[in-house]
Amino acid sequence: GRVATTIRDYIRTIPDFPHEGIMFRDVTTLMGDARGFRMAVDMLVHPYAGRRIDHVAGLEARGFILGGAVAHQLSTGFTPIRKKGKLPARAIAEEYTLEYATAVVEMHDDAIQPGEGVLLVDDLLATGGTAAAGVRLIERLGGVVIGCAFVIDLPDLGGRKRLEGMGLDVHALCE
Ligand code: 5GP
Repeated sequence: GRVATTIRDYIRTIPDFPHEGIMFRDVTTLMGDARGFRMAVDMLVHPYAGRRIDHVAGLEARGFILGGAVAHQLSTGFTPIRKKGKLPARAIAEEYTLEYATAVVEMHDDAIQPGEGVLLVDDLLATGGTAAAGVRLIERLGGVVIGCAFVIDLPDLGGRKRLEGMGLDVHALCE
């Protein structure tokens, strides 16, 4: 059949998930397609070729899939940033605010070495709260965030402005 040629062509929108009124951008269709996944990983890596990335950190859960592939492509190690209580060894935690609650993300305290250049990866940037908490974890361990890479940016929710306001480089494949 016809080969889809843009990232957007591979992303499915599910209305009213997880709540009524939310249009959920579903990247399982992107990652589930051989060409879609290839294109997404290549495009995520593209701006960082030749930059000093020592490590990739991925945000749970879709950031694990994308970030793992990006780390392999860049020949770096990969570190998961997990929801509270999932990591087995000693971890540091950062809280962030959701629409009606707070959440906590954690990272092993020996995951990043001081001075390492880190690329943060997730599927989607909305308010930027999750990514900002991930950046704080990396920086607390002495890591230097070289960039934050996402498949999708929802610009109306302000995440890009928030991260750029923290002096961070933001890269998204589509809006
Ligand atoms: P933020 O913290 O920027 O407000 O929200 C981003 C986080 O929520 C990301 O970890 C992302 O996976 C998840 N997220 C929020 N909305 C969506 C969506 O419509 N689609 C997907 N795939 N993830 C979403």
